[in-house]
Amino acid sequence: KVKDYQFMLRLKQPAGELPPDLYRLLDDLSINHGQGDLRATTRQCFQMHGIMKGSLKTVISSIMNIGSSTVGACGDVNRNVMVSPAPFVSKDYEYVREYAKVFAHLFRPMTSAFTELWLDGEKVATAELWGKEVIEKGHKIDEDMLYDSGRGIILDHPKEPLYGDRYLPRKFKIGVTVPGDNSLDIYTNDIGCVVIMDPVTDELLGFNVMVGGGMGRTHNKETTFARAADHMGFVPKEDINECLKSILAAQRDHGNRDVRANARMKYLVHTLGIDNFKVLVESYFGKKIQPWREIQEWKYSDWMGWWEQGDGKLFYGLHVDNGRVHDVGDFRLKSAMRAIVDKYNLPMIMSPTQSIIFKDIKPEDKAGFETILSEHGIKKLEEIDPLARLAMACPALPLCGLAQTEAERIMPSYIERMRAVMNKVGVDDEEILIRMTGCPNGCARPYMAELAFVGDGPKSYQVWLGGSPVLTRTAWPFKARMNTNDLEITMEPILTMFRDQRQEFEAFGDFCHRVGAEEIEKYSESFSV
Ligand code: SF4
Repeated sequence: KVKDYQFMLRLKQPAGELPPDLYRLLDDLSINHGQGDLRATTRQCFQMHGIMKGSLKTVISSIMNIGSSTVGACGDVNRNVMVSPAPFVSKDYEYVREYAKVFAHLFRPMTSAFTELWLDGEKVATAELWGKEVIEKGHKIDEDMLYDSGRGIILDHPKEPLYGDRYLPRKFKIGVTVPGDNSLDIYTNDIGCVVIMDPVTDELLGFNVMVGGGMGRTHNKETTFARAADHMGFVPKEDINECLKSILAAQRDHGNRDVRANARMKYLVHTLGIDNFKVLVESYFGKKIQPWREIQEWKYSDWMGWWEQGDGKLFYGLHVDNGRVHDVGDFRLKSAMRAIVDKYNLPMIMSPTQSIIFKDIKPEDKAGFETILSEHGIKKLEEIDPLARLAMACPALPLCGLAQTEAERIMPSYIERMRAVMNKVGVDDEEILIRMTGCPNGCARPYMAELAFVGDGPKSYQVWLGGSPVLTRTAWPFKARMNTNDLEITMEPILTMFRDQRQEFEAFGDFCHRVGAEEIEKYSESFSV
């Protein structure tokens, strides 16, 4: 019997942008060549599962020909560049989107191997749309790439002047946002950039740059860990490309290529310490990095529901449970999205938390938009449990080869069970940010959550506590193994302690962080129902 091979294919959509034509194409491709559904990832792009080997060329070339791409969505290169998904029409948010595309274009793999393999060496009909936009805005990326600063950033390699012939030790992630808006989990990136505006002229001055975040770890291997990024400093806008190239080159030349589990840049930053890492970057950069500029406190928003965009139009954040865009019975999310795109031709932004934002909605279309959603069985935002709205789970079984247990499929039942325990204990008004993954790789960024379940075997999860509700610090492992039947007996004591000992307005994650593992363990041991 000849085996049928099927693949998962992921797009690269810098700044999460999803033009209506691309959505129509993906919708068609998923029906004709995939398993019929689409999955919004935690990195602001779609992925499609179940593409048969024989369909790969058709699927990839049609995505490339429409001006999107799959190049660099996986692999040891710069991945999809993330942003705050709020499509506000204001200078600071516009700079965020503009520079996300600049960085995506700057760090794109340049070899022709991809087109040779998937497009028979032919040039795609349309270049990547964001690349064209970047050039049109006057960013001279190509010249920049070929400029040899004499400091060893650029390799003498005909096809990959930045990546060379070995690419990076491991995947590389960049996020960009405005001060105070941490809707993208910026501390989980290798590089996080925060736009700093001149308060008088409202023009871009430069960027606060943070480095060394990352989620992936391995169970029972203490040398691997999740890490939140460190603040490195401020870089003026005219130097930002060169600075980011210097950081990438530092990781390229000094990252751990011997032990893959320790290859992410977070380990290099951790080993050197942020001060020495900064000195290393400055040796490539050729300049001093200025001190980090004070910015306002971080907040987290999922940007769901109706918002004014800032130009007279509206945007609407449509919650997607764990990113799965499909039709099941009366719940016809995929058909609803197609109907909206066909009727109003709206562009979308993928959210960092697996949901979709429709933008540029005319106020007079709001009622018709809502009618389409209700006719397709989509709940109003206020009808969705806040726990489900905040939650994220990765695909895990049966779609991910690394999964050790369930995540996406079991998460709805965990939300229901958590809701029941919270009601019983009397903390039902609380909103707790819960995340779940099927293995320690951490694709749904569990280690930043207030409460996380990380799969470590069949029907078994590690329990993590103490992340921040605004996603600025990592959690810690509270319980090494929790059988899925033990969710209630694990959580009831902790939630009871939270109810009785919390400070005014203290969030669950902040409470766990303040009292610490030892106190929670002691309380849990002495707890009787
Ligand atoms: Fe990622 Fe692990 Fe989940 Fe697979 S099971 S999607 S590797 S976190």
